[in-house]
Amino acid sequence: SAPVLTIDGPSGSGKGTISRLVAERLGWHLLDSGALYRAVGYAAGAEGLDLSDTEAVTRCAQTTKIRFRDPGDGGETRVIVNGHDATDELRTETAGAAASAIAAIPGVRSALFEKQRDFRRNPGLVADGRDMGTVIFPDARYKVFLTASADERAKRRYKQLKNKGLNVTLAALLREIQARDERDAARTVAPLRPAEDALTIDTTGISVDSVVAAVLSVVRP
Ligand code: C5P
Repeated sequence: SAPVLTIDGPSGSGKGTISRLVAERLGWHLLDSGALYRAVGYAAGAEGLDLSDTEAVTRCAQTTKIRFRDPGDGGETRVIVNGHDATDELRTETAGAAASAIAAIPGVRSALFEKQRDFRRNPGLVADGRDMGTVIFPDARYKVFLTASADERAKRRYKQLKNKGLNVTLAALLREIQARDERDAARTVAPLRPAEDALTIDTTGISVDSVVAAVLSVVRP
């Protein structure tokens, strides 16, 4: 079946940017699995659900229709949730926190399991997430785990959100990111950790180009 490259790591480790560039360079498909969790958190909020109501949120994960739409002009991929373009709402740290809360529900993770496996197509797939190499594609041919210091990760997220015109402070982001990482690492289902056969790359102070080159060399040594 089609080759898979998994790229896991905490928020701000550079996963999103690196995964997109590596997928472009390889001409492979891209799975942004975080967007699926964000979309379910968003849909649950839109339905007015209590995010700790595991049964209701699991049902929501099973029924929410999520589509990725490529604008075709080289622009950013749009995320369509139940027919509504939710791309802008999904990138906020509020959406990240809601995603992290519902991602701890086992029923939500199993509802998204097949959806994610379906992205595996020729000529290949770059899968970006937290558990791509450990749970969703344990059989992947190539596995990478990206890390960076918490300070650096908060700074990167700060720049990203600022560029998108969102009003945030660095101190608040650092707190939110640390809280989200702790929750992602401490949960009992699919905790954030590198797969045993993953190559870990610390991206602190390393340029995007160098990280892309390092990841590409795993696929094409
Ligand atoms: O990567 P992103 O910041 O979009 O992910 C949002 C949240 O979704 C993460 O903090 C994590 O809790 C959850 N997530 C997950 N498993 C994945 C991708 C994301 O649990 N494969």
